[in-house]
Amino acid sequence: MSAPRHVVVHGAALAEDVGRLALRLLDDGDLGVIDGTAGTDVVVVRESESDDRGDSAATADGAVLVCQVEADAVRCRRVVDGEPGEEVPVTVVPASIDVFDRVRGIFETDVLRDRAVAVLGLGSGGSFIVRELAKAGVGRFLLLDHDRLEPGNVSRHECGLNDVGRLKALAVRDLVHRHNPAAEVVTSTLHIDGKTRHEVLALIGKLQADLVVCATDSRESRLLVNRLCVENGLPMVIGGVFQRAYGGIVQRVIPGLTACYQCYVQALPAQAGDTEISSEADAARFSYTDRAVLPQPGLSTDVIPIALHMVKLSLVELLGQESPAFRGLSQDLVAPLYQWVNRREAAHAGLAPMGVSVDELSVLRWYGVLLPRLDDCAGCGKREVTVTDELFPVEPPPQP
Ligand SMILES: [Zn+2]
Repeated sequence: MSAPRHVVVHGAALAEDVGRLALRLLDDGDLGVIDGTAGTDVVVVRESESDDRGDSAATADGAVLVCQVEADAVRCRRVVDGEPGEEVPVTVVPASIDVFDRVRGIFETDVLRDRAVAVLGLGSGGSFIVRELAKAGVGRFLLLDHDRLEPGNVSRHECGLNDVGRLKALAVRDLVHRHNPAAEVVTSTLHIDGKTRHEVLALIGKLQADLVVCATDSRESRLLVNRLCVENGLPMVIGGVFQRAYGGIVQRVIPGLTACYQCYVQALPAQAGDTEISSEADAARFSYTDRAVLPQPGLSTDVIPIALHMVKLSLVELLGQESPAFRGLSQDLVAPLYQWVNRREAAHAGLAPMGVSVDELSVLRWYGVLLPRLDDCAGCGKREVTVTDELFPVEPPPQP
């Protein structure tokens, strides 16, 4: 086994308020992460050889790496059979490192640092959305999901096998911090239903969320979140995938201005009922007849386009006019509903092949759909909501 060559030490190691000492070596010793207190000796081992991070077990060749964490530096030395060996170069990455210097040409990330997003539902789509928003520089999150990560989720989720068994809310929180270490993250394991709606609203209110992203996996929970946002004037981006993720829709809901998700369900009930069955719980919900329904989740590849569009609409909402790059996009993305088809099947089996035509409806293209607000909508109909120019600063979507 080769000696560790570089250890990257997170700046938190130097903070005095970090109580537990832990260090992992990854990638054949090239990358390590320390969380610890100043003035402490750290014995480093490869993570695969120790269940307990920071344990003092030796590496295969009998060597251990001993590090002295000082107030402003970390020094590491290999020790073989108790004898001090070569010093190992260490790179200290300060906790305050600016990881966003390469995206400043696109938009001012300092704006996003103060923006707060509540993401409800942290499955394959939700976890992707959170990670992308964290990478863009969004600084404050509420992450809500009651589930734990199961082995069956791994092929679709942003978190992998090392997070199986964990609450998705906590695993995705760690995902955020791997990309945006300064982000403030509040987590919740509330199950969204009629009984918890006031608690969910209280969490969103406490965060002072600028945007709600609804990535839950059932129409019932989406309707509930929709109602909650419409009644409280909260902008929302909501999305869903059709069966086996052969396609999906994304909607940006501005209360008082655009159609809401309930309008969509009432206007296009057949499409709104065409939904992916991604888990045993989903299957049980649909098995209301004698005929058993089996889970038929789609591929991650087919969920991601829908999730990515939700990210873009979220950034348009969060950045408003403050980014030249997104100012143009906000003029493009004015449709109240967007539709995407991954494959020609089910209700879209009759589409013409994509070929090279740009005239006909085809797969793998976004289409804006005119969806007016419905007067008899049970969610937003006849509801008085004050609309300000700030909500839709450039151009409102087409109205009936
Ligand atoms: Zn409505």
